[in-house]
Amino acid sequence: MQRYETEVIVIGGGATGTGILRDLSIRGIDATLIEKNDIASGTTGRNHGLLHSGARYAVYDLESAQECIKENKILKKIARHCIEDTGGLFVTLYHDNPKYHDLLLERCKLAGIKASEISPMQAMAIEPNLSSHTLKAVKVPDAVIDPFRLTSSNMIDAVERGAKIFTYTAVNKIITSGNDSVGIECINKKNEKIEIYANIIINAAGIWGQHICEIAGIELKMMPSKGSMLIIDYRTNNIVINRCRPPADGDIVVPGDTVSIIGTTSKEIDYDKIDNCNVDDDEIDTLLKNGEDLLPNIRRTRGLRAYCGIRPLMAVSGKVKGRKISRGIVLIDHKERDGMEGLITIAGGKLMTYRLMAEKTCDLICKKLNRKLKCTTHKLPLPGSEKKIPAKQTIKHFSGIPASTVGSTFYRHGQRVHNILTKDKKNYRLICECELVTEGEIEYAIKNLNVKNITDLRRRTRIGMGPCQGELCAYRAAGLFNEYNSTSPEESLKLLKDFLEERWNGIKPVFWGDGLREIELSYWIYQGLFGLGDFGDSDTEEN
Ligand SMILES: Cc1cc2nc3c(=O)[nH]c(=O)nc-3n(C[C@H](O)[C@H](O)[C@H](O)COP(=O)(O)OP(=O)(O)OC[C@H]3O[C@@H](n4cnc5c(N)ncnc54)[C@H](O)[C@@H]3O)c2cc1C
Repeated sequence: MQRYETEVIVIGGGATGTGILRDLSIRGIDATLIEKNDIASGTTGRNHGLLHSGARYAVYDLESAQECIKENKILKKIARHCIEDTGGLFVTLYHDNPKYHDLLLERCKLAGIKASEISPMQAMAIEPNLSSHTLKAVKVPDAVIDPFRLTSSNMIDAVERGAKIFTYTAVNKIITSGNDSVGIECINKKNEKIEIYANIIINAAGIWGQHICEIAGIELKMMPSKGSMLIIDYRTNNIVINRCRPPADGDIVVPGDTVSIIGTTSKEIDYDKIDNCNVDDDEIDTLLKNGEDLLPNIRRTRGLRAYCGIRPLMAVSGKVKGRKISRGIVLIDHKERDGMEGLITIAGGKLMTYRLMAEKTCDLICKKLNRKLKCTTHKLPLPGSEKKIPAKQTIKHFSGIPASTVGSTFYRHGQRVHNILTKDKKNYRLICECELVTEGEIEYAIKNLNVKNITDLRRRTRIGMGPCQGELCAYRAAGLFNEYNSTSPEESLKLLKDFLEERWNGIKPVFWGDGLREIELSYWIYQGLFGLGDFGDSDTEEN
């Protein structure tokens, strides 16, 4: 049994947990994060990626709306390489109630969100694919945020400042002394037991926070709400399009990198189903129908994959249900609520309020540790976002390397592009043509970004996330694991198989037309040509 000591243990490597780890390490507090899979593999990696302006919540949840606009402005400064500042529109179609448009404008003003009415003609000039049935439109400062890049950047900064991260390590016991929690027991993929002792344990396990409380002997009731999303094969819109009506299924289309995402649905599910959730056929139908109402050209696109996530919501009042549950932040000091010193739960909120959640949590930690240390994360840019440098300048710096390759590496890693690209041809040869991922980027990720398999590599680089879904790049990536991670050929084959299985889970729900033809081709390449099915069993755990 390995045994460690630290000041603070953070359970959960989503945006919230890595945000807390970064905040603590900046304040100079020794901390260790434990994540049972990879970072951003929970709800953080299964959402819409919308950097809300707050307009979506302005009508029903003013507090959340105010939090959103404040964080929206902060993140646009400190995490600029994770954000595409697209802007957003709220669109009233001819059969929507126009009164909601007026209400939205009024409430946005109250929340401090800059929302301006524009004519349908102006809206269509901004977004030419918008429905011609647009009656009214409001422009808001929505944007798009990449959850993987954001989480990874928080991890990089924390680790560079001395924090520790254990991935693929699950917490299965909270060690107590009397009434108080003093440590955790966890188990890693090699079945090794690890004990870590600390003054404070942070439960940032999102929807799994209920389970963490259970193993600490405390009751905490989460309200799991499943949301499904559909990715289509190209960017149908260049700005975020929201339907101007009370929040409902399929009323947002978010552009993200090379694709667009239609979302979301909202279905309450039982807590014991949270690890076995699938996208239902009726959800795909609803998403397509409502997406097409906003952007009719969606009809001519191909569904790439569908996925779902579980909102880590906590109903403070038992009567509130579904979309009406507040997206507000819940911070629980279990000493005050349950008499257990040393355990704090942070839940609720949103991806885009992760920094604020971390700030509130770390302020409470400092109070408990009696340390007068102030939060500075609202001012300190994440690694990669330090300076506002135009892409053109970076492209010029790397003259000789194709501009598109430099541009996309810069887009994903910001100023860290200088740690990745070199003028050696092997470094910038393309491995993933859809997302323009180079061998240099893969080498950098494998060596520096806590990557254990090809799915982790996808989260750090977007390899396999484009239209071919890994068909033409997965085997090359597996080969590079062999080269840069000393993985044996057999292990590389297993990584390849696991990755293809993981991609397959998301493709299954959209299995028709051109998508079906594409997957048939992938099948023939990997099964027919490479005979991949002849090698051992896959044990992928992800949807
Ligand atoms: C459908 C949908 C759409 C959404 N869209 C948006 C959006 O557009 N914009 C936005 O801002 N927010 C959005 N959200 C909300 C946002 O995704 C979540 O609020 C946020 O990602 C939660 O992050 P987290 O770090 O708190 O939780 P998680 O990302 O779930 O992290 C918790 C982590 O804890 C780990 N864990 C659990 N148990 C253990 C254990 N025993 N040991 C070790 N580790 C453990 C899990 O593996 C997981 O990685 C959406 C949510 C959903 C479901």
